[in-house]
Amino acid sequence: MSRSPAGPASRAIMDPEIEAAAKVVMSRRGLRLTRHRRTILTTISLADHPLSTAEVADGCGVPLSTAYRNLTQLVDGGVVARVVGGDRTAYHELTEALTNDHRHHLVCLVCGMVGDFVPSRRLEVSIRAEARRLLNTLGFDASMHIFDVQGRCNSCR
Ligand SMILES: [Zn+2]
Ligand SMILES: [Zn+2]
Repeated sequence: MSRSPAGPASRAIMDPEIEAAAKVVMSRRGLRLTRHRRTILTTISLADHPLSTAEVADGCGVPLSTAYRNLTQLVDGGVVARVVGGDRTAYHELTEALTNDHRHHLVCLVCGMVGDFVPSRRLEVSIRAEARRLLNTLGFDASMHIFDVQGRCNSCR
């Protein structure tokens, strides 16, 4: 039996519902959830904030180039979303197609960190209502929104 050289994430467990959803979403775009992609998706799914490419490579125990290449495929496959940090670095999280929850981002303009938060129902209702009212006058039919807040994080204040 050969030893697996993969990092800690290869033994971590991804929520089976997320994995099943990822396979469906990716197969619609003609992509498969290969071993590396699965490991990367597991690492992202278990993180409590969006991860940079370097953090993904570290967490998965794969070279940066492997992480980069597979992240691009996961983004193309519709299961990973890129968020641009305050330092212009790309951070990665699961798409809403997989998680069934809706988040907004906090972007620190000093250290570049990206965090996320679940908006209150009240905030969400007012954003949607106000956007619909405005966009109607432009004849635009909105299907989703991205709402990122920029500023200074707790440790940079
Ligand atoms: Zn910061
Ligand atoms: Zn929202």
